[in-house]
Amino acid sequence: ERIISDQADFEDLSLEQNLRPHSFDQYIGQDQVKNNLKIFIEAAKMRMETLDHVLLYGPPGLGKTTLAAIIANEMGGNLRTTSGPAIERPGDLAAVLTAIEPGDVLFIDEIHRLNRAIEEVLYPAMEDFCLDIVIGKGAGARSIRIDLPPFTLVGATTRAGALSAPLRDRFGVLSRLEYYKPDQLIEIVFRTASILDAEIDEGAANEIALRSRGTPRIANRLLRRVRDFAQVKGDGTITRALANEALDLLQVDRLGLDHIDHKLLRGIIEKFNGGPVGLDTIAATIGEEAETIEDVYEPYLLQIGFLQRTPRGRVVTGAVYEHFHMEVPKK
Ligand code: ADP
Repeated sequence: ERIISDQADFEDLSLEQNLRPHSFDQYIGQDQVKNNLKIFIEAAKMRMETLDHVLLYGPPGLGKTTLAAIIANEMGGNLRTTSGPAIERPGDLAAVLTAIEPGDVLFIDEIHRLNRAIEEVLYPAMEDFCLDIVIGKGAGARSIRIDLPPFTLVGATTRAGALSAPLRDRFGVLSRLEYYKPDQLIEIVFRTASILDAEIDEGAANEIALRSRGTPRIANRLLRRVRDFAQVKGDGTITRALANEALDLLQVDRLGLDHIDHKLLRGIIEKFNGGPVGLDTIAATIGEEAETIEDVYEPYLLQIGFLQRTPRGRVVTGAVYEHFHMEVPKK
């Protein structure tokens, strides 16, 4: 398990409930998304209607689930949560939909992973608040229509492009969440520290923010590890020096890169003179699956401009040599 993984681990899941902001005021950053949603929510309330269906997209750990809960709070409905992979058969979705009460918010995480047959059940539910289900088999089969109460579907996905066009078109609001800026992450670290009853100075919050890869989930996790360290090695107060020491021990560098990122980047530099080199060749060299490299390791490196995809393969940029204090090779 990587300490800088954007996926929630067991500890994250058990703690995130307490750390989640419950209102827009507590939800730091993402101003454009927030301001739009506030207006749509206010307008829906004035019309005494449910909010239009909302699609939230962006990388893991940026606050999509949190936002769904805030929407439910603001609309005064219950939040019901499920996910694409959890709904295997149309009947699974029917069970979820028929349990909905008026004004509820149904949150479907990883909605791009719903299969086609299930999407077909979802369309009339989203459009007309009804459910067409087939009872029986063969010649005796018949279809019945069940009315559903009005509700808001909030779908979350890490890849909007992976969503089928007919499903995407049925959302009235599409919002993209952005990576957080360091000063926003500092604010999040301070907020979490106060919930955890931990003393932290500005310098330490800054160090954690820098290494969090733009992601609140990672910031919160690093804070917890640094807090443990400060408790054992110091007097409990998280200072910049303690934070740095702890983060060095965790092998997270000042850009939030860990040993796997280093192995990948150094592999391309040392074995292939910085590239271009094909993904499969990299995979074989560093002993990782090509798919894992593409889905898990590369996105952040691409995003910070450390890696580029070219038709001839992956290339590391000058910024990587600078980061490792190396000379850029002449080609
Ligand atoms: P996602 O659903 O996008 O994977 P989550 O909503 O589960 O992300 O957020 C992960 C954690 O990060 C939550 O526990 C929450 O405490 C924190 N978090 C996310 N966004 C914010 C924010 N804007 N302000 C404060 N904390 C946040």
